[in-house]
Amino acid sequence: MKIALFGGSFDPIHKGHLALAEAALAGGAADRILFMPTFISPFKIGADCLDGETRLRLIRLATEGREGMEVSDFELRQQDVSYTFDTLEALGASGDAEWSLLMGADSFLSLEKWYRGEEILRRWAIVLGDRPGSPAEAVSEAMERYRSAYGTRVTRVEYEPLDVSSTEIRRRLKAGEDAEALLPPPVAAYLKEHALYRTEQADLERLKQDLRSELSEKRLRHVFRVAEEAKKLSRRHGADEQKAELAALCHDRYRCLDGAASDKLVRELALDARYLGNRNLAHGKIAACLLPAAYGVRDEDVLNAVSYHTTGREKMSLLEKIIYLADAIEPERVYPGIRRIRSTAYKDIDKACYL
Ligand code: ATP
Repeated sequence: MKIALFGGSFDPIHKGHLALAEAALAGGAADRILFMPTFISPFKIGADCLDGETRLRLIRLATEGREGMEVSDFELRQQDVSYTFDTLEALGASGDAEWSLLMGADSFLSLEKWYRGEEILRRWAIVLGDRPGSPAEAVSEAMERYRSAYGTRVTRVEYEPLDVSSTEIRRRLKAGEDAEALLPPPVAAYLKEHALYRTEQADLERLKQDLRSELSEKRLRHVFRVAEEAKKLSRRHGADEQKAELAALCHDRYRCLDGAASDKLVRELALDARYLGNRNLAHGKIAACLLPAAYGVRDEDVLNAVSYHTTGREKMSLLEKIIYLADAIEPERVYPGIRRIRSTAYKDIDKACYL
């Protein structure tokens, strides 16, 4: 039995980790992969990290039903800085399994500097996966150097590495951006449900208070109807309902400005001069500039949906189309042709925008 220890912070586990583990199993470099989240990585002491229990749960979610993939809480239970050497000593010494260490190229290149790194290289085989950003030649050189200096056996996994890192995922989630494409679906769902890594969430309550105090009764009711319509359209077309609601609540936040105030902001925010004297079109553009600082709304897609809700543009995202249409078809709107647009919006969103 060949067991590969796959250590890391997994903060959070992502598709890059899974691709490497899958490839190591498929190529026969390992029969089992043991995911080992660190309690505290020696390289990340003092860094903000999701608690161990949650990282462990996310790895379980990601690997569930994947044959050959297992998770251990061995290092988490130590409640101390985790050293791979110690873990290998403790786990690898017993039984007659053949142990190795699975890692990406960035870790491989620094392996000599790890705690008792040279001993690791002497005693344990390495299963190595390339990683975008770590030059292939440098990796080949290190393989050769380790082999001649320490007799290290290295198996280089054949696969298509993914350009994904936990750092990028944390950055995106912190900024309120989407990271779904980089995450295994159950992990993405969990992070979203528990709003993890989102230190700065949109201040929805304050936004609603400001809408109530600054918009007219009529406008306020319109905004809430647009939010309902946008959620319905999102359900129909598979968009993110929460984002749609947020964008809808934001879309007319600055609709209450009078002409002078609107023009002043157009100048101050250096918006296109064609928005001068045109608050009907300016309010979306103004909102997209002010919302990040005012309410912590930083999601690019939400800001674009607000910005283009009156003008539209080429190549609108699904969310942009939803807000554009929800504004146009909310139940109290009346104008010639609206019935057709309304029914089309739930069947063919592009055609509805065109109409
Ligand atoms: P961070 O961005 O927080 O440093 P990370 O994405 O590098 O995190 P870790 O949990 O630190 O992930 O990495 C655990 C192991 O997985 C390391 O050996 C690392 O080289 C490897 N690894 C991480 N991402 C990839 C990837 N996209 N492809 C191949 N290996 C990867």
